[in-house]
Amino acid sequence: MKIVNTIDEVRAQVKQWRAEGLSVGLVPTMGYLHEGHASLIDASHRDNDRTVVSDFVNPMQFGPAEDLESYPRDIEHDAALAEAHGCDLIFHPEPEEMYHEGFSSFVDMTVLTQELCGLSRPVHFRGVCTVVSKLFNIVKPDRAYFGKKDAQQLAVIRHMVDDLNVDIEIIGCPIIREADGLARSSRNTYLSEAERKAALVLSQSIKLGSEMVKKGEADCGKIIEAMKKHISAEPLAKIDYVKIVDLATMQQIEKLDRPALCAIAVFIGKTRLIDNFFTEDI
Ligand code: AMP
Repeated sequence: MKIVNTIDEVRAQVKQWRAEGLSVGLVPTMGYLHEGHASLIDASHRDNDRTVVSDFVNPMQFGPAEDLESYPRDIEHDAALAEAHGCDLIFHPEPEEMYHEGFSSFVDMTVLTQELCGLSRPVHFRGVCTVVSKLFNIVKPDRAYFGKKDAQQLAVIRHMVDDLNVDIEIIGCPIIREADGLARSSRNTYLSEAERKAALVLSQSIKLGSEMVKKGEADCGKIIEAMKKHISAEPLAKIDYVKIVDLATMQQIEKLDRPALCAIAVFIGKTRLIDNFFTEDI
């Protein structure tokens, strides 16, 4: 496995693989890799001859009051984990390599981004769409892998690829959890011991909501109310949102009469965590 820092090096390597007739999968990440990322790398390794992992904390997707500076980074750890799961190339650029002086073109989306995380993180999806478009243009993979953990991001990327006729297959992969249910996240490292325990309200409320759906509850208001009640009982938790939306439009719905996403964002202390379930997975 190679680690490269420049766009030219990625292009040269992928060009060589293409000349050999090999297929290429891309796993975009912000690094500090864990088992969630590993599952994406495994999936790419299974489906493709070669796998590229991008490891880049993208400044453009962070708001001014967010955790860009403190976001955890550990490229040696990432390299070992990625290699163990079949990665062939890590692209680990500096911000200046991705955003040269005078950079002024963006990929933005007017629908899907106005709800859920888009409301509390207004610049986030513009940053995501722009960096993912750049990565697609740099690597030109056959397939790209995204986690259902970031459900709205997955929907946004699928929509972008459709709108802009990008010839890359988007694969959504299941949420990987800790043994006690907490969804794996690089941001879990911010949690103190007490916060780590408190953070279980996220996965517990997701379980509660999905069990209500499984038993036939179709009233979104009732499901949301039960989930909010459970989360609010934890003093360290502060709800950002608990919502059920149409999977195709990300608009809130009242009744579960179409494929839907139940998504939550909760502050545990200062750390904002997300979790979700797709009704189609129940
Ligand atoms: P990040 O490094 O947090 O930007 O995540 C990179 C990719 O890994 C995104 O597609 C995420 O959805 C995915 N991912 C992060 N955590 C998990 C998880 N617990 N299970 C599955 N995929 C995940």
